[in-house]
Amino acid sequence: MSGHVAVFAFPFGTHAAPLLAVIRRLATSSPSTHFSFFSTQQSNSSIFSVDKQNMNIMQPNIKAYDVSDGVPEGHVLSGNPQERIELFMKSARESLEKAMEVAVSETGRRVSCLVSDAFFWFACEMAEEIGVDWLPFWTAGPNSLAAHVYTDLIRETFGVGGMVRREDETMSLIQGMSKIRTCDLPEGVLFGNTESFFSIMLHKMGKALPRAAAVFINSFEELDLGITEDLKSKFRKFLNIGPFNLISKPPPVADTHGCITWLDKQKLASVAYVSFGSVATPPPHELVALAEALETSEIPFIWSLKDNSKVQLPHGFLDRTSSQGLVVPWSPQSEVLAHGAVGVFVTHCGWNSLLESIAGGVPMICRPFFGDQRLNGCMIEDVWEVGLKVEDGVFTKHGVVSSLNKILSQVEGKKMRENIRALEQLAKKAIGSNGSSINNFIALSNLMLNTKM
Ligand code: UDP
Repeated sequence: MSGHVAVFAFPFGTHAAPLLAVIRRLATSSPSTHFSFFSTQQSNSSIFSVDKQNMNIMQPNIKAYDVSDGVPEGHVLSGNPQERIELFMKSARESLEKAMEVAVSETGRRVSCLVSDAFFWFACEMAEEIGVDWLPFWTAGPNSLAAHVYTDLIRETFGVGGMVRREDETMSLIQGMSKIRTCDLPEGVLFGNTESFFSIMLHKMGKALPRAAAVFINSFEELDLGITEDLKSKFRKFLNIGPFNLISKPPPVADTHGCITWLDKQKLASVAYVSFGSVATPPPHELVALAEALETSEIPFIWSLKDNSKVQLPHGFLDRTSSQGLVVPWSPQSEVLAHGAVGVFVTHCGWNSLLESIAGGVPMICRPFFGDQRLNGCMIEDVWEVGLKVEDGVFTKHGVVSSLNKILSQVEGKKMRENIRALEQLAKKAIGSNGSSINNFIALSNLMLNTKM
């Protein structure tokens, strides 16, 4: 009998959609294998409805199952996004176990392999209990993955909370991270609340990952050869199978606000695109500084800004800049970044945004907020030299004007554009015939289908 792969998606942030993208590729290459995809109702309806909208019918060998979001009946949520994550994670193991039983009885096939978002560290034990391989997926970059895998070593070396006077020390103890400072690590590794639910979860994940049959990631080896080599020595297999946005174009998002038609009328590499992903929003005084910088610079712009943040913009900004730029609540970002008119991306340095900027060959201005974003910002400025971090970590009018000018009009920007185009070429090679990401995908597929290699 053919296999049955159980897939556990993390339903918050930009996690479930990239995992579904991999599963779709695997389902296409193995039509006789069944894939049960578990996430919350809200997450499933958002990622699976994108498919329906685009008439891109789901493969018959993938079935979505809704699991509980863990919010007890009658519970009033505080509005803090962490609360939703904690409630979900606290009940996740039990909900996933139950849903998996339903999928097994419906399909009549026992689970042959367990794929999960790496956050579900307990999936390692679940897979061991049923005697199958665990294949965790890390949705961000290899640098943050290394930070979580090496948390114990980092803490032993620097001392938890012992950051005083050591903030600027570099992480030379990890291969490939010698330009990263300790203060750029995700909070909860060395500083911040190391006992928070989230830090404990990531710490447990870092310890569990070496037990996985393989860890896979949306990146390409050539982007980070040092860290890749190091993680290959830590894991049984470390498989870079991205960037997904170049392999299979994400289903096109409707251009409801006319971003692409507007870009068609702009000059080559002249536009600033501004977006901070699905979760982060800069504090009000920084939104004002950024708006003033855009207005003063007279640079054409597209700004993806949630409607509820518009009230923070300077009085009259939207009217005064109506012919200079577009402020939209959501953009078709990967197509915007791939458009030749975009010359710079003002970003929070989320991993998917970073990969989309590489695919479009667009240098970045980095304003990281939390998690892996600071690390990504350091890689962008210090290692790959494809962008600039904002001075002192916050937007100021003067700082933004100066960075926009450097990237769009000066020789520094030209060099960054060359550097990012070189990364784009490496990415294309990795996903080309016999490329590293393609070979790694075959290895992943073989593992998942329990084929001897
Ligand atoms: N995105 C988009 N339109 C927007 C803003 C964001 O399509 O107006 C998409 C973007 O293309 C990317 C994702 O949302 O694929 C953001 O992912 P990322 O990892 O950068 O950040 P996160 O949302 O996880 O903070």
